[in-house]
Amino acid sequence: MLFLPSVTEKVPTMSSSAPYPLTGSCNCGDVVYQVNAPFLGQVACHCRQCQQHTQSAFSLVGGLNARDFVIVSGALSCWTKTADSGNRIDCYFCPRCGNRIYHQNPDNPDHIRLKLGTLHNTDVINPTMHIWTEQKQAWYTLPDDVASHPRQPPAQ
Ligand SMILES: [Zn+2]
Ligand SMILES: [Zn+2]
Repeated sequence: MLFLPSVTEKVPTMSSSAPYPLTGSCNCGDVVYQVNAPFLGQVACHCRQCQQHTQSAFSLVGGLNARDFVIVSGALSCWTKTADSGNRIDCYFCPRCGNRIYHQNPDNPDHIRLKLGTLHNTDVINPTMHIWTEQKQAWYTLPDDVASHPRQPPAQ
């Protein structure tokens, strides 16, 4: 159910002085990765599946070109689910601690959706769109200055 806006909707949230490459890891530290370029967009997804797998109110997802993402240690496992859209989603996670690292549509292998909470420097996280807000937790109030969509934003 995760959806990311097209690159036309990328926003200038990333400071030009952002410290690239970024690094991140899974909860146990076995899997370490590197991000070599700014995110194409950052989204908060409030769908129930994201609430479940993050064990939180919403997931934080950053779009990346796959070439800008490198696993530097450890190895990921993968399981595949089918989104409501019918798209397949490969879910990559650490086999030791279970922490989800990224999602990828196997039909679009040039693009990944990184789970931003796994970054070491969380200062770079700044979602500019909230999606699936019709399923959001009632106690969470959306910020005024971000786009939001009750489900997936319209295709662009
Ligand atoms: Zn781990
Ligand atoms: Zn979601």
